[in-house]
Amino acid sequence: MHITESDLRPFFPDDEEPCPEDIYEWQHSGDSPQEAATADAYLADLAHERLQEGYDEVRQIEILARFAKLRTGAGTSPKFGAADEAALARGWTVALARKLMARSVTIVDRLPQLLLLLETGRISPAQAYAIADAVARLNDLQVGELLNRVLPRVEQQTLRLLRQSLRRALIAIDPEAAEERHRKRVAKRGVRVIDTGEATAQIRIGGPADTVTRAMTAIDGQARQIKAMPDEGRTLPQIRSDIALDLLCGKGTGSTAPSSVSVTLPFTMLLGMPSTDAPELADYGPIPPSMALRISEDGIWRRMVTDPLTGLLLDVGREGHPSPRLTELVKLRDRICRVPGCNRSARRCQVEHVHDAPSASTAECSLCCLCDHHTKLCNTPGWNIRLNRSRDAVLTTPTGRSYVDTVEPITVPSQRSREES
Ligand SMILES: [Zn+2]
Repeated sequence: MHITESDLRPFFPDDEEPCPEDIYEWQHSGDSPQEAATADAYLADLAHERLQEGYDEVRQIEILARFAKLRTGAGTSPKFGAADEAALARGWTVALARKLMARSVTIVDRLPQLLLLLETGRISPAQAYAIADAVARLNDLQVGELLNRVLPRVEQQTLRLLRQSLRRALIAIDPEAAEERHRKRVAKRGVRVIDTGEATAQIRIGGPADTVTRAMTAIDGQARQIKAMPDEGRTLPQIRSDIALDLLCGKGTGSTAPSSVSVTLPFTMLLGMPSTDAPELADYGPIPPSMALRISEDGIWRRMVTDPLTGLLLDVGREGHPSPRLTELVKLRDRICRVPGCNRSARRCQVEHVHDAPSASTAECSLCCLCDHHTKLCNTPGWNIRLNRSRDAVLTTPTGRSYVDTVEPITVPSQRSREES
């Protein structure tokens, strides 16, 4: 799989990427019926634009697939120059044309069900291409298994969540191949300097996700200690930058902030039994089992265990305020803010009661993670968030529209639980 810019977005921490709405002053005090109707009509127009985009993309996929086959001749891949022809006709770079042709052939030949989902606006082109990229190295049987795991949720998922689901499914379907891809990617680790203009630059350090996460946790912990000092005028990102560069230049900071990582394990793996479910590294997502074992051997970790019946993290009781353990459990369950489309890490969220929770109940089922902005939004008249039995979050907006955010079980629920629900 190629690394794209969107794969490189920071997964931890994300203070630098605030909820974009934070720039607006929120003064919503309820719509008049006419305002609500007009607003809803605009929103319907926006939804229609998505439909049109899907329709156009399907036409393009079909044309590219036919063109690629016309230019394939007796071989298995299009003849030299075919991508250039498409690039010139469409104003693309050759690399993009080559990639889109390969994806189009994959979708038409192996994933025809995606065409209908795209055409009806239920998934975006980026989601379809992410699935096409994932199946490139699977046989037909494995493609079926991947689609069974991924398609039921895809319509409610952001691109980032879909990529996590695909990664989780690829580890489960063929763990050895996933380990092999991980080893190859780790072997390509390195350090690069990127010119970011105006006499600034970035250092990009590649390595296994657990080591990078632990390094970032250490930098972040030290930065927060310094930020809490009186008279500290720098922002958190600035302090993190100063600490990291000082460390690399050999200057000690004298801080003792702890660095640890959280890993969620399938129950069966804890018992030493074979498991096809992928462990999860908090703030990152699914990881190969070998990495979870290495982290556990290193000792600097906290582990959470999933219920084999539901695949969800286990409830830990009821108290007036969420206990630190319950707070941690809800954060590991939700991973990110539960408002659909918000990618803010649970680490930077509050654990809040949902709208219809009984006031006396402080259990896992009545709590969810919300970022600062969305805590404010969900407490605004007209807005409402609740959880259903499978912990999907349902957000209702002032015009009465509902949006669902599904929480993906960390492990696949057992058959018995699926029949019950
Ligand atoms: Zn949010």
